[in-house]
Amino acid sequence: MRAPLDPPEILLLGPGPSNPHPEVAAAMSAPLVSHLDPFFLTVMEETMTDLRRLFRTTNHHTVPISATGTGGLETIMFNLVEPGDEVVVGVIGHFGQRLAELAHAAGAVVRPVEVPWGQVLEPDRIAGELERAPAKLVALVHAETSTGAAQPLEDIGRIVRANDTLLMVDAVTSLGGMNIDVDGWNIDAAGSCSQKCIGAPPGLGPITVGPRSVEAINHRKTPVASWYFDLHRLFQYWGDEDGARARVFHHTAPVANIYGFREALRLINAEGMEARFLRHQAAHDLFVERLGDIGLELFTPASHRLPMLNVVRIPDGVDDGAVRAALRDRGIEISGGFGPLAGKVWRIGLMGTNATPDVVDRLVSNLGEVLSR
Ligand SMILES: *Cc1c(COP(=O)(O)O)cnc(C)c1O
Repeated sequence: MRAPLDPPEILLLGPGPSNPHPEVAAAMSAPLVSHLDPFFLTVMEETMTDLRRLFRTTNHHTVPISATGTGGLETIMFNLVEPGDEVVVGVIGHFGQRLAELAHAAGAVVRPVEVPWGQVLEPDRIAGELERAPAKLVALVHAETSTGAAQPLEDIGRIVRANDTLLMVDAVTSLGGMNIDVDGWNIDAAGSCSQKCIGAPPGLGPITVGPRSVEAINHRKTPVASWYFDLHRLFQYWGDEDGARARVFHHTAPVANIYGFREALRLINAEGMEARFLRHQAAHDLFVERLGDIGLELFTPASHRLPMLNVVRIPDGVDDGAVRAALRDRGIEISGGFGPLAGKVWRIGLMGTNATPDVVDRLVSNLGEVLSR
């Protein structure tokens, strides 16, 4: 007979998932109700309200898509873009490339604007590209998890808006760990995930979609090439702005995941968003300092480092895989690099519950011991 499931307890310090808060885990095993039960409808409303607050937006259409972060981003791309539309994509690493692939899959004419991995885009690059030829959409990654770079968005947002172009942002890693101001930065649509800085398990792709995006969707000439991820249908399920139409059954929402997500958002509000961002920054600062003590340094230039995801140079002669395996034996997960950074860096997340001095101490002391072997 197969034994009951008994997973190891791992300190999850890769680029996600992070370890959920115990209260989030508890909420997920609370009694199940149906996805159309009045109690669950209240949970949906609370989730939307708290998610708007986290995205800093008044956008009505701010909901968790029943998919991981990528599914939320695909939803945005497939609804905003029609075949033949021109889309400018900022490519500062792996996840920028993925945005370009999503745009391509939606039928767009993709115009990548690239910088070497580790760098970020200056606003002039986007301004120049939009001057060269107009575009329907500009797509950017806020927190580029492959390089540890934080892409500044405020100035670019102003430029994109002045060009009457839509701006979509991948906020998968940033949301819940650093400030993102959807309304203040002129972001027309953004997508994130449940399992990084928000601190719930994977399974949801929270998105927010603003009025200019809704307008573009309403003026589509072609149908959205997806039934499940068609935002018109999803909006009918999550509810109209004025509540005029009855909710229409669309799919069976993952009730337990949304319970957990609702609790994670509640805990963020209880802590305070600003306090939470400062906690992530403080953990990062401490980690960088302690890394220096064991002779390691970050790959990403100090001018634009992410607080929640640290890309650390692997010292010459050190075996990437052996170090990660030794840490895993000690109950700690960190991750390797992507593409041009494979074998050259570790990607170490201090996200959600793990952005604390205790976790930094445990990580650095174990890493130091493993390296000294
Ligand atoms: C993790 C990540 C994704 C993918 O999110 P999933 O939830 O795994 O689908 C997309 N973009 C960035 C920047 C990420 O770090």
